[in-house]
Amino acid sequence: MEIKLAKGTHDILYDEAREFSEIEIIMRAVSETFGYEEIRTPIIEHSELFTRTVGESSDIVRKEMYEFLDKGNRLITLRPEFTASIVRSFVNNKLYATKDLPVKLYYCGPVFRYDRPQAGRYRQFNQFGVELIGASSYFHDLEVMMLGYNILLALGLDNVEIRINTIGDEETRKNYVNALKEYFAPFIDTMCGDCKERLKLNPLRILDCKVEHDKEIVKKAPKIKDYLSKNAKEQFDSILEMLDEYEIKYVIDDELVRGLDYYSNVVFEYHVANNKGKSLGAIGGGGHYANLVEELGGPKLECCGLSFGLERVINIRKEAPEHKDIIKETDFYVMPLGKENFYNAYIVATALRSGCFITEICLEDKSLSAMFKRAERANAKFAVIIGDDEVNKDIVIMKNLLTKEQFEIKLDELMSKADELIDGCIEEHTHHEEHDYEKN
Ligand code: AMP
Repeated sequence: MEIKLAKGTHDILYDEAREFSEIEIIMRAVSETFGYEEIRTPIIEHSELFTRTVGESSDIVRKEMYEFLDKGNRLITLRPEFTASIVRSFVNNKLYATKDLPVKLYYCGPVFRYDRPQAGRYRQFNQFGVELIGASSYFHDLEVMMLGYNILLALGLDNVEIRINTIGDEETRKNYVNALKEYFAPFIDTMCGDCKERLKLNPLRILDCKVEHDKEIVKKAPKIKDYLSKNAKEQFDSILEMLDEYEIKYVIDDELVRGLDYYSNVVFEYHVANNKGKSLGAIGGGGHYANLVEELGGPKLECCGLSFGLERVINIRKEAPEHKDIIKETDFYVMPLGKENFYNAYIVATALRSGCFITEICLEDKSLSAMFKRAERANAKFAVIIGDDEVNKDIVIMKNLLTKEQFEIKLDELMSKADELIDGCIEEHTHHEEHDYEKN
């Protein structure tokens, strides 16, 4: 009986898997140019890590955690986000005592949220993100935002819009939350069940409500910008000034509060419109957080982080008119003529692989024409044919699959010539592509 995928999950195959690796390589490389280093934390964590940090009023904790009792009766959760795990690890490993601050880390891997599956929304999806722990000024927030922006540029996404807001410091939020409570009180009976609960736990969350009727009420709610403390306002204005100076496009979004409770001061999201000019939701977001390290048993340190949803980044990239699938590439396709030559072909393939050439070998006892079809499907540059005659003469027949040119190579010269052959073939390939382009 065929067993189907679990709801809200997806397989990543072939072209898409290549796209994922390419994106990850670019994101890592750009983060490393900013001096970030990789951190890998476990997928499972004690549930308390998230209930205490992400916040009881957040959708993630209220409805979306994959939570279970393990065999030792411990309450365990599949991570719904990375920040809490990174900060836990920072504290557990006492990095605040052994490393220069700020500590700058990047991560990549799957996260799990029991959300309602829909376009661009999965129950298991992949995030790449960074955390800067021990920020000493708003310049660090700016650096994290610029890192995210540079990652998107390096991915070829140049119509990025940064949506930015501040949710102020504690003083700001105390005053603002009181104003929201007062504003929503007369409407709350007509609003959704979630909002009724949000009003009790954290009225800020109501600003994030997706129900149309509630969104109308939210539109006229008091704006946080009118409640900012002097300090919070100065910081936010300074960040905006710097963005202006760098000529980075941004939009102030009064309703942007982000779904996790630990944020304070600046929060931001990256949006990229598709080729029809429509934004497909945030492809990444982040912000400043001030209490998390202390909350988890470390010193009081200010931080800033961001994370990208890889599935969304891929969807946007796929839609770009100039997008090309990343195809499988093979350097040499080794073709033994008959089973009796499998061993000899295997020796040749092993030598080529030891020189880091992508080498496939057909061990399925196929006819020569069937092997050529396979070589073509594998996008091989050369076919290496090995029959009885070739073995007796210590040679192989090499066929350039682009130019169809065929010649013999002595076995003991194979490795010294392989580089030349592949380099020459890449040049020919580029030449053919340019020629095709001119013809079109
Ligand atoms: P968050 O941790 O909620 O700030 O999310 C960071 C990024 O992850 C978002 O900007 C999205 O790109 C992506 N994301 C969030 N939730 C999902 C989901 N359920 N499925 C796919 N991507 C998601």
